[in-house]
Amino acid sequence: MSEQKARKKDVSITINEAWCKGCVICVELCPESVLVMQNGKARVAHLEQCTACGLCELRCPDFAIVVVDKNKLDQSSE
Ligand code: SF4
Ligand code: SF4
Repeated sequence: MSEQKARKKDVSITINEAWCKGCVICVELCPESVLVMQNGKARVAHLEQCTACGLCELRCPDFAIVVVDKNKLDQSSE
């Protein structure tokens, strides 16, 4: 009974739907097919595949995506 499948990263992705204009850039850029479009907005569909590469956050023209790599947070906090 594994509680969760092995994740590539312990990551959280927040998409601000109010800011997302549905340009699809993030969906097309994500190398791991984490994101999908739904009702004209970007949506996280496969969080478990996210490597926290940050591409989507970097390339979103509307700053609608925030990717947090929790592993990195853990390392930096004492
Ligand atoms: S890149 Fe940004 S604005 Fe474009 S679909 Fe993705 S979240 Fe929305
Ligand atoms: S951080 Fe990288 S792997 Fe994760 S959703 Fe964004 S582009 Fe995809």
